Amino acid sequence: MINLQDEAQPKGAKIRGNKPVDQLEAANRFIAASAHQKMHDQRLWDLRKKRDAQMHLIPEWEELRDLASEIKNHTLDFLADYLEEFERNATANGVHVHWAKDAQESNQIISDILKQHDAKTLVKSKSMLGEECCLRQHLEQDGVKVIETDLGERIQQLDHEDPSHVVVPAVHKTRTDVSKVFEKTLNAQKGNNDVHYLAEVQRETTRPYILNADAGMTGGNFLVAETGAVVVCTNEGNADLSANTPPLHIVTVGIEKIIPKMEHLAVFIRLLSRSALGSPITQYTSYFRGPRKDGEMHVVLVDNGRSTRLANKTFKPGLKCIRCGACMNTCPVFRRSGGLSYGSVYAGPIGLILSPGYNTHKYRNLPFASTLNGSCTNVCPVKINLHEQIFAWRETLAKDNELSLSKRVIMKTLGQLFASPRMYRTAIQTGDRALKYLPHFMVYNRLNSWGRQRDIPSTPKETFHSWYAKNYQKKEKRDE
Ligand code: SF4
Repeated sequence: MINLQDEAQPKGAKIRGNKPVDQLEAANRFIAASAHQKMHDQRLWDLRKKRDAQMHLIPEWEELRDLASEIKNHTLDFLADYLEEFERNATANGVHVHWAKDAQESNQIISDILKQHDAKTLVKSKSMLGEECCLRQHLEQDGVKVIETDLGERIQQLDHEDPSHVVVPAVHKTRTDVSKVFEKTLNAQKGNNDVHYLAEVQRETTRPYILNADAGMTGGNFLVAETGAVVVCTNEGNADLSANTPPLHIVTVGIEKIIPKMEHLAVFIRLLSRSALGSPITQYTSYFRGPRKDGEMHVVLVDNGRSTRLANKTFKPGLKCIRCGACMNTCPVFRRSGGLSYGSVYAGPIGLILSPGYNTHKYRNLPFASTLNGSCTNVCPVKINLHEQIFAWRETLAKDNELSLSKRVIMKTLGQLFASPRMYRTAIQTGDRALKYLPHFMVYNRLNSWGRQRDIPSTPKETFHSWYAKNYQKKEKRDE
């Protein structure tokens, strides 16, 4: 195996306009970078183990998950009411509330607010909604300098890459990868990959932007309808600096982030960080209820396809997601293929069910990047039926004629095979014999993508059917 520090960082999926993302091709490249792949797998599995350890410390963990799921279900059933309550209370607190039906409208609203304040620099805390709306690119075209303040997100910005994970955006990079990025972009010492040094470089180069920015932006983990407050959870305190230092604070948040009351917040706060990083709580849980003294605060409530999902009974539960990333940390496909191989803002199990909702054709391969083992559903703190929705997407894609030709041919052939017991048995017997005697290269070749990373199990001596026929059918006939 190549030394981790010498191996080049594998890049993500190649995006070609509206063409379907080839997740398999990008995953193969990630797997080929064996040292990176192993490190990625281990890092995420460590997070999963930490999450399990935290879970076992809380006897009422399953009740908390049930409660969180029920709160979210209830809120989604009365979403319009709670959003209006939030708007009333936030406005009474002196916050300007805006509504955006899609990404374009959201970006325009934010551009207009910045123009009204003649703001040319914006410090931004991590926001997946911002990524979803391509906000940074939009603002940069408008001449606004946008600086990411989250360490992982800043690394990704400097490397011209998207975040590869919703919680740990640069988890696929080694410290040498980061050192190379900082050397190129921040004038850091060549070859110095000490993590403390790298963190200090980031701090020293980002802090002046924060101190002098015209505006600050944060996302929102939760919106509390009862108080009109926005709650942001971070581990670096960068959201607090971004929100409080500049005179203008803009929040961009999806409409599904609402919860009814303050008393519900505790349920989610207890679940969020434990599920995400296996730590009892995030370092900073900030509660923004109004503008700072002499400042202004704007909240942009973004729909961008959420209402459509709300009206779809099958995919509505996806709106309960609190973006903890636990489903990614546990997913064997995500851990081995890296988040950027999905070529979409949301990767891993949650990405498989959200992304095709944004562009079915482009993301039609994603719902197949799963073993359907259900581990994602087991760890999800809000009990989203992830593996069932992944399966439902496969059905939807088949109905919508979005399966690739090879998949269609295979499915049709298998359908005919399963429909005929005689043909099925003959195929099984022939296959079993062939596997016993065929030379290795005829079984493990380009056509057998399943066997590329796995060994086909050895075939049983006899099938259940032949065993049953031998031991029981003859006897049953004799007894008749
Ligand atoms: S689907 Fe569940 S586990 Fe995955 S990010 Fe969302 S809340 Fe977390």
